[in-house]
Amino acid sequence: MYSFSSPKILKGAFDATLARDGSKWLLVTPKGNGFLETRQLAHLNHSTASPDAITWSDGNRPCFWFDSDWDRQPQPWSDLLEALLTIEPKAPLRRTGRTQKMTAELGGERDAVEVEVMVDEDELCKVCFYCGDFDSDRLGAETYPKIEGDGFTSTYSCGSCTSLSLEARNAERSKRI
Ligand SMILES: [Zn+2]
Repeated sequence: MYSFSSPKILKGAFDATLARDGSKWLLVTPKGNGFLETRQLAHLNHSTASPDAITWSDGNRPCFWFDSDWDRQPQPWSDLLEALLTIEPKAPLRRTGRTQKMTAELGGERDAVEVEVMVDEDELCKVCFYCGDFDSDRLGAETYPKIEGDGFTSTYSCGSCTSLSLEARNAERSKRI
């Protein structure tokens, strides 16, 4: 898991990492933390997630239109994109140079910026296809095995969902879609 911190993200108090839940891109913490209610910090393509297949850059990396729910919060939670574009030593996202006008459900008309994901699938926090839990980089934590797909189309299952019957597993999934 590639994790990073920035003074512009929760004042650098917590590490963050990217997760992909289908075609949703999320900013999450790499492990559970008692100070935070949820590991999901932001949904990075809040109004622009598409159920369609991922779009790819010329370099064969996934792209999405950045529209973070975080940026709709009152200050000081702004400039998340800028924070992510300037992470050292490796920025997890890069601008493709394309922008488009979009109308968001919240916040009205705004410019959406297209970004390219610069981390590899193996560097993402894995999301359980069924229950939506995030895997953890805590020492000794189980890694979620892949159940289907390749690269950025892979799906994973957490240990507790793997031990359920197919029916119970699908019930977990239907709770969150
Ligand atoms: Zn699960």
